[in-house]
Amino acid sequence: MSYDKNNIFAKILRGEIPCKKVFENDYVLAFHDINPQKKVHVLVIPKGEYKDLDDFNIKASEKEIVELNKAVTHVADLMGAKDRGYRALTNIGSDGGQEVPHLHFHIFGGEKVGKMVS
Ligand code: AMP
Repeated sequence: MSYDKNNIFAKILRGEIPCKKVFENDYVLAFHDINPQKKVHVLVIPKGEYKDLDDFNIKASEKEIVELNKAVTHVADLMGAKDRGYRALTNIGSDGGQEVPHLHFHIFGGEKVGKMVS
């Protein structure tokens, strides 16, 4: 399946719908999840059109890969979650439970995150 340009995060990136921005640079955007599961629940997404982590790892440039990884750490730090620990998670595809088909890392923290898989 190819990238769906009408997914909700693509619309956020185009400024068609709002988000509560936490961080942005040339490569990534980070914003609060609309339905937070923990005290800290932020999404970090690449600006490029990648539907999931596999698509990203196959097609993205080295620079994009480095910048997305660095942004996860930076955003966790900005949210005050880095020192106490946090969970960075990305869902891939149907069995992975991915709902929005644009790569995103969830950052959960600010409290004990709990069981890894339910
Ligand atoms: P996933 O199941 O990994 O694809 O996660 C998608 C996440 O996107 C969920 O945690 C949703 O709450 C979140 N989400 C959906 N729409 C929005 C939106 N407009 N702004 C922020 N987060 C959103």
